[in-house]
Amino acid sequence: MQVIVIGSGINGLVAAASLALKGRRVTVLERLDRPGGAVRTEALTLPGFRHDVAAMNLSMFAGSAFHAAHGEVLRRHGLALVPVDRPFASAFPDGGHLGVSTHPGETLASFSLEADRKAWEAQLAMFPAQAAALGSLLSAPMTRRGLASAAWRIWRARGSAGSLELLRLLASSPRAWAERTFRDPRLHAALCTWGLHLDFAPDVPGGAIFPYLEGLAGQAMGMVIGQGGADTVTRALIGVIESAGGGVRCSAEVERIGIDGGRATGVALAGGEKLEAESVVANLTPRRLAMLLPGGSGDARYDAGLREFRYAPGTMMIHLAMRELPPWRAEALRRFAYVHLAPAVNDLARTYQQASAGLLPDAPVLVVGQPTVFDPGRAPNGRHVLWIQVRCVPAVIEGDAAGRIAGRDWPSVQNAYADRVLDQIAAYAPGLHDHILARRVVSPLELEAENPNLVGGDQVSGSHHPAQNFMFRPVWGYADGGTPIRGLYQVGASVWPGAGTGAGSGWLVSQRL
Ligand SMILES: Cc1cc2nc3c(=O)[nH]c(=O)nc-3n(C[C@H](O)[C@H](O)[C@H](O)COP(=O)(O)OP(=O)(O)OC[C@H]3O[C@@H](n4cnc5c(N)ncnc54)[C@H](O)[C@@H]3O)c2cc1C
Repeated sequence: MQVIVIGSGINGLVAAASLALKGRRVTVLERLDRPGGAVRTEALTLPGFRHDVAAMNLSMFAGSAFHAAHGEVLRRHGLALVPVDRPFASAFPDGGHLGVSTHPGETLASFSLEADRKAWEAQLAMFPAQAAALGSLLSAPMTRRGLASAAWRIWRARGSAGSLELLRLLASSPRAWAERTFRDPRLHAALCTWGLHLDFAPDVPGGAIFPYLEGLAGQAMGMVIGQGGADTVTRALIGVIESAGGGVRCSAEVERIGIDGGRATGVALAGGEKLEAESVVANLTPRRLAMLLPGGSGDARYDAGLREFRYAPGTMMIHLAMRELPPWRAEALRRFAYVHLAPAVNDLARTYQQASAGLLPDAPVLVVGQPTVFDPGRAPNGRHVLWIQVRCVPAVIEGDAAGRIAGRDWPSVQNAYADRVLDQIAAYAPGLHDHILARRVVSPLELEAENPNLVGGDQVSGSHHPAQNFMFRPVWGYADGGTPIRGLYQVGASVWPGAGTGAGSGWLVSQRL
C-alpha cells in the first residue's frame, strides 16, 4: 500500500522524496493546479519575468539535513542554487546604509562605531561553535529523548557557562540581544528586522535566535537563491519522487481523512474519489487539518490544541517588473539581495503593534528582494524583478494608522496601500516609479486563497512565540509530527522546527516512517 502526502509544500515533497528514495510507494495530492506551495516561481507580471511567489531565500534549504543527505540526487534532477555574497542591508533616510556581506572588510566598513566592529568580530569568532550548538537543538526531534540528547550534546560541547549563554540567547528578545551586544541603533534595527521575517517584534522574548543566526550567517556564509527561481527546488524534488516511482497529482483537493478504529486508512478527494493508504502525511496547518477530521481525532486535548493554534499578522507581496534596479540613494544597495527598510527598532515595534491591532501600518516594514542582481536570467534583456515583502499587515482591516485609506476590505484597499509602499521605497530611491514596467499586488487574503496554510496571509503558518515553538509546535506531545490517530502524521511550517525552506518536519517524519 502507498503513503499519501496531502499537500505539495516543501515539507510534503521532502517527506515524499525521502520515502520514495527508500523504496516506499508515495503519492502527493495537491489542491492547486500547480505544485510547490510557498516555493513556486511564476511570470506574475510580464512574459519572461520570473517572480518567486513566496520564498526567495533558500539558505535554509541549502543548509537542511535533507539537502545534506540527498543534494547529489537533487542536482541530477536539476537543482541549481546561486550563492549570494551580499545577503542583506538596511537603508536609512539620510541616504546611508549598513550592509552585511561575506567580504569582512566591507561589512565592517559600513558600521559607524569602532566598538561595534570589535563586537561583531568577537561574535563572528564564536559563531561556528554557537551555530553548531543551536543547529543541534533546532534539528532535534521534539521528544523528551530528542531534547535530552540535544541538551547533552550542547553541554558536552559548550560546558556550563557556554550552555547558559546559549540559553540566555534563546530566551532573549531581538532588542535585548542587539542592545547588549552592539551600540549603534542602526545596527540594532538592521538585525532586529530579521525577527519580523518570523513573528518576532523586537520585544518578544525568544525572538533573538533568528536575527542572531541570519545576521552572522549572512557574513559567514552569505545567502542562497534558486537559479531561475526558487522553484528549482520544487521541480528537483518532484523529479526525485517521480523517478523513484512516486507521483504528484495536482488539482486533487483532499476533503477528508478516512479513519477506522483510530487508524488512518486513506483520503477522500473533493469529487468523491477515495484512495487507500497505509500512512497519511498531512502537509497542513492545524486549522486545515482539523477541517479534514470532522469527527475529531479522539483526543480532546489535541483537538483543542489544533483549534487554539494562533496565527501571526499577515504579509502583502508586491512583485515588480523593472526596467532597472531601484535608483537607491546609497548606490551600494544595488549589490545586495535584500534591502530592509525599517530604520529604527521602534519602527518595527510600531508596525507590529499597528498590524496586531488591525491597522494598516503608516510606514510598514519592507524587505525589498533583488534576485536578478545575482540571477539575471529571471528577467529578459538585462531587466530586473523586485520581490517586495510588506511586513506586517492585518488580515482584517479595522482602520489605517495614517488615517488616509478609508476602505476596510483588501480588494478595495490593496492598490492604495501598494502605492504607499512604493512611495516609501521611492523616498530611499527617488525616481523608482519611472523604472516600473508592471506590478502585481498580492494581498494577505490572496496568499491564503492560493495556499490555505497561510491563514490570514501569515507567511509562517502560525506564530513562533515561545508558547507555540519547540515542544509546543503545534500541540504539546505532538511536536514530532505524530497525531493521536495511528498512521496519520503532520508536517509543514506549523510543526516543529517551524517555517522556512529547511523542511525539518518533513525530514523528521520521513525518518520516523
Ligand atoms: C510570502 C512568503 C515569503 C516567504 N519567504 C521565505 C524565504 O525567503 N525563505 C524561507 O526560508 N522561507 C520563506 N517563507 C516561508 C516558507 O516559504 C514556508 O514556511 C514554507 O515554504 C512552507 O512549507 P510547508 O511545507 O508548510 O507547505 P506550504 O507551502 O504551506 O504548502 C502546502 C500545500 O498544501 C496544499 N494543500 C492545502 N490543503 C490541501 C488539501 N486539502 N488537499 C491538497 N492539498 C492541500 C496547498 O495548496 C499548498 O500547496 C515565505 C513564506 C511566504 C508566504
